[in-house]
Amino acid sequence: MKITFPHMGNMYIPVKALLEYLDLEVVVPPFSSQRTLNLGIKYGHEFACLPLKINLGNFIEAKELGADTIIMAGGVGPCRFGLYAQVEREILTELGYDYDSLVLEPPDKHLLQFVNRVRKIIGANSWWKVIEAIKFAYEKAYAVDLIEKNVQYLRPREKKVGIVDRIYNHTLATINEAQSYQSLYEATNLGLLKLEQVPRKSDETVIRIGLVGEIYTLLEPFVNFDIERELGKLGVHVTRSLYLSEWINSHLLMNISKRIKPKPFAQLAKPYLNYFVGGHGRETVGYAVGFAQEGYDGIIQIAPLTCMPEIVAHTILPRIREDYQIPVLTLYVDEQSGKAGMITRLEAFVDLIRRQKGNQQKRRAAQ
Ligand code: SF4
Repeated sequence: MKITFPHMGNMYIPVKALLEYLDLEVVVPPFSSQRTLNLGIKYGHEFACLPLKINLGNFIEAKELGADTIIMAGGVGPCRFGLYAQVEREILTELGYDYDSLVLEPPDKHLLQFVNRVRKIIGANSWWKVIEAIKFAYEKAYAVDLIEKNVQYLRPREKKVGIVDRIYNHTLATINEAQSYQSLYEATNLGLLKLEQVPRKSDETVIRIGLVGEIYTLLEPFVNFDIERELGKLGVHVTRSLYLSEWINSHLLMNISKRIKPKPFAQLAKPYLNYFVGGHGRETVGYAVGFAQEGYDGIIQIAPLTCMPEIVAHTILPRIREDYQIPVLTLYVDEQSGKAGMITRLEAFVDLIRRQKGNQQKRRAAQ
């Protein structure tokens, strides 16, 4: 069995670690690229969500490398995610790609079904070994997020643009290669130490923006045109609403890890949206309120075009903008989107925030 899975940002690092810990053969697809997208557009339905098309491209590219089994996430709730796995499976079968597929749905909804499906993948491995594998993979996800958060803080502050990203890429590679806890901690600590030593500018010009939206577009740099890096170049310290280790802890590990404090996004969203609308629509609203309450300078929502849960959240964000007097920008992406257009909109938004901040400071000085 040669197992593959779709890309979503740095998710390949913990997923690969988990499968390899169980002595399973893994085929990581090539990083998502224009070719991946073209394959997805060619074979996916025109009206399918963008993540489905790119996942499809990932599976075709992994097949070219010899993969024969797919692990993918299934979903529940009102949006199209619940149909994704089935649709992808049918398209691949029609194209003649002979894949076994295992769809994992969140255990908080169908625990027994989840356990049975995991059993099929793990074969002769004991449950104890599975727990050990999950712990190791989770530790990698946590390390990746720790590095990412430091990188998000430092990008707008580094004196010479590019040093932070060089350290980031190298550290991710060493975390990915780590085969033991000791080598994982060494890689993480060395990365943190190098980041700590990066020469910095003063904090004065840095603004803080909270990034909210649909999980795939938030985490996958190919799809979001590397929005975090681009904002970093514009002097923005970005904080995302979703980090992989936090998502794993709350959705797959039932908040076992005490290192992560679950965010009360449902509570925060309550005055505006009091029910689950599928995907991450409620998270988007809750985190937008949280960022506004924490004094962030702006909020950016990013989502695939036609993403129903994010459209619901989009209709609510103007009320949050009014109530908290915080600038909000919504960006939808699809296969027609281009990086230049995205950067122009980011530049205009950051410019608007800086002018508003400058005016507020002047008003305060005059009082
Ligand atoms: S969350 Fe949005 S992008 Fe994802 S499947 Fe649902 S509608 Fe599509």
